[in-house]
Order: sequence, then C-alpha cells, then structure tokens
Amino acid sequence: MIVGCPPPALCALMSLTLHILLCMPLQGSLPTVSLLVSDLDNTLWDWFHAWYASFDALLEGLVRELGVGREQLEGEIRTVHQLRGTSEYSWLLYELPSVADFCGDKDPFVIFREVLHKQNSARLHETRLYEGVLETLRAVKSAGVPIVAYTEAQSYWTKWRITKLGLDGIIDALYSSSDHDAPKDISPAEKRFDPAADMSLKRTDHRHVHGGIIKPSPVILQDILSQFDVPLDQVLYIGDSLMKDVAMGQAVGVMDAHAEYGVAIEKPAYDQLRRVSHWTQKDIESERLAAVETTPKPTYVMTKGFYEILQQFNFRAQSGRSQRRGKETTFGGMEKAIDVQQHFNDLSWRIRALWLTALTFVLGTTFLAYGDSKPVTMGFLGDKPPSLVIPALGLFLWAAFRFVDAAWYHRLLVGSVIEGIRLEKVLTLGGTEISLTKAIGDNSPLSTVLGVMHSKHKLNAFYLLGGLPLFVTIAFLLSR
Ligand SMILES: [Mg+2]
Repeated sequence: MIVGCPPPALCALMSLTLHILLCMPLQGSLPTVSLLVSDLDNTLWDWFHAWYASFDALLEGLVRELGVGREQLEGEIRTVHQLRGTSEYSWLLYELPSVADFCGDKDPFVIFREVLHKQNSARLHETRLYEGVLETLRAVKSAGVPIVAYTEAQSYWTKWRITKLGLDGIIDALYSSSDHDAPKDISPAEKRFDPAADMSLKRTDHRHVHGGIIKPSPVILQDILSQFDVPLDQVLYIGDSLMKDVAMGQAVGVMDAHAEYGVAIEKPAYDQLRRVSHWTQKDIESERLAAVETTPKPTYVMTKGFYEILQQFNFRAQSGRSQRRGKETTFGGMEKAIDVQQHFNDLSWRIRALWLTALTFVLGTTFLAYGDSKPVTMGFLGDKPPSLVIPALGLFLWAAFRFVDAAWYHRLLVGSVIEGIRLEKVLTLGGTEISLTKAIGDNSPLSTVLGVMHSKHKLNAFYLLGGLPLFVTIAFLLSR
C-alpha cells in the first residue's frame, strides 16, 4: 500500500509544534506570566498587509470607473478618514465628492457593487494570523492564563477579524474603541455586505474604551489591569509599536515585549497608508522624529513570530493561594459596594419620604390659611390671598430636596453601582459567575410610550409628580 504525504498545512503545523517544543528552554528559569495583554493589528495578524490589499482593490476600481486621478481620490479619501478618525471607514463612498458627482442621487453601494466586492474579497483572503498565533494562544490559555486584547482600532472590523480568525473565546476580553459614526441616512445593518453576519462576539467579553485616550497613554492599560488581581511583574504586554505599545507597557510597569516581526513601517506600501490615513501630518511627523530620537528600548523582543513568547516566558496561572487572596479581596470589595449601594439608596428614599411629608404639611397649611384670610396687595401681582406665600416658599423646599437627591446622593449611588459592576466583572473573569448588580441594572429600565426610562428619568418623574400639587395650588391662588 502506498502511503501519501500529509497535507502541506499539517506538515507546517507539525514542524511549528516541533520547533516550539525544541526551542523552549527550561521553564523554571523564565519570567512567570499570569496575564497576557496583547495588541492585535500587526501583533496577532498582519493588518497592514490586508488593509493595503483591500484598499488598493477599492482605489484601483474607483480610479478606473470614475476616470479621475489617483492623487485626487487619495486627497478626498484622506479628508474623510481624518474627519471620521479611522482608515477603515465603511461608508467612504457616501462621502467622496468625486463619487457623489458621478452617482447623483443613485446609491454608490449599488453603482460600485463590483468594486466593493473586490475590496471585501481581498480583505477576506488576505486577513490571516501570523504563523503559530492560534497554537500559542491555545497553549497560554491551557496554562490557565487569561488573554486580553487591547486595540485602538474601532469595533466592527476588529470583531470581524476576531470572528473570522477563530479567536472568539480564545481571547477572554477585548478592549477596543467604539464603532465609527455612520452618515445620518445610512443604516449600517442594511448596508453591510453581509448583514446576516452577526459580528457580536459570543464568548469573548467585549468592552469599549474611553474615547480620546490613545496609546501610549497608560490610563487604559492601568484600567484594564485593575480588572485583574495579577501583580504587575506577572503581566506581559506585547505589541508591534515601540512608540505606542512598548512605551505604554514600560510606563505602566509590566513586562513589555516588542513584536518586531510585525513592524510594517519600512514597507513601501506604508506610504500608501500615510497618504490616505486618518493620522494628521503632526502625528506622522512626530512618529518620524520619535523613531530616531526617543525610541524606547524593549525589554523582550520577538523577531520571528508571536510563538516566541512561549520560549521566553513561563505561562502559569496565579497560584491557588494568591488567586484565593485576590478573590477574597474582591468579594470583600463587592460586599462593601453593595452595602454602599444600599446606604445611598436608603438615604435617597428617606429624602423622598421627607419631601412627601413636607408637601403634605405645605398643602394642609395653605388650605387652612386660605379659608381664614382676606386678600392683600402683593406688588405687581395685585390683591392675592396671603396663603399664596406658603406654597411659594414650598417651591424652594421642593428645589432643595430635588437638588440633594439628584445632584448629591443619586450620583453617589450611580458611582457605587459602577464599582459593583466592575468588581463583578473581575470575579467573572476569575471564574466566579456573579451578576447581581448587572442583573438589577439590566432590569431597571422601564419601557413606556415615551421611550425607555432609566433611573434618572424615574427620579425626574417622581419630583415632577411630587411638585405638581404645589404648582396647581399656586396657579389656583394666583387666579383668585
Ligand atoms: Mg499594532
């Protein structure tokens, strides 16, 4: 019997596995990593290559169909990208002047269907993980080490890549910017080429980072790390940008690794990205200057591939004792957060009960005084019942109660709820499912014919209804 050769992909996988195993030094001598935080673009996959292939297909098609110069189109595209803050703007065709002139009132997505199809095909075929990424992430995960991804890229295409590349669930948590805006009259769900494809991640916990804060600011990474009870010297951050990723890791004080294999800055096609990117000229210049002047020196360097992290670090879940200690601390914080929530909630209801008591007193006194008095002259109001003074003063009381409740204790209550949700996430990521505060928050909104009422709307409704008897009484007395 003739035995055939294994398929090439299997051969490559076997050789890679062998390579990883043979090159792996003794684990005891390596720094321990209990939390892996990774950049995505050009660290796990070659974003630049896929972007260039898909963008070039779009640009070539538009130049051919529109009959305008490449340079002119690049200028128009750059203006839109800068306006929208991304170089992967899904609705580009709706905002290019040359396309608008060409299409008139026709839909550019219909007119340029073929061009868009080529762009999407190129993106689909050229988006690939670097060699060994999947196997490496699985090895890290099987060691019980959480994997977190932090990218500045916007939401939709990041989720698309994670889903397409089979990383949903392998990455435990993704932190990304929210999606870019769409033009007012565009429905993203209808216009996406594959509207049936649900891009929400099923197993990876996806969270949006605050807008306006970008790498190398340490703020977001510090915020991410606060969700995990892992000492900084057991956290590894890896990324392809020295100025952004390595500098940020060093600023926060975690172990930093440079994904040198993913550096795309010297490739000729990088100039294409510069010509149409959302980066400002200032960004580009500062990057050029920084590259020669203040480039941080990475502590660890991966030259060949992502899989080298298995050779340079010992991935190990936190010891049971430190995990237990961390969980106990978080549980303690959680209990305290719930106590604080109860405290502020209780205070708020006492204030509201006091207001209802004060309202009853004001109304009762007003009606008693109204029956026993004759009108007196009140300046420009003319002759009015003197009892008008009582509900008028009640208005100040009403405003004071509302101020203390809404501007004071309700805000403190919201703060304690946010902290409760954060601690629940920490416990959930650590394997303990708890979602009391989240479940309360999810069930709190009330659907009405006027829209969804959240807690602040309910608070306003309470004081509006609670103030109504006062307004009616004042209006009645003014009419006498
Ligand atoms: Mg990157």
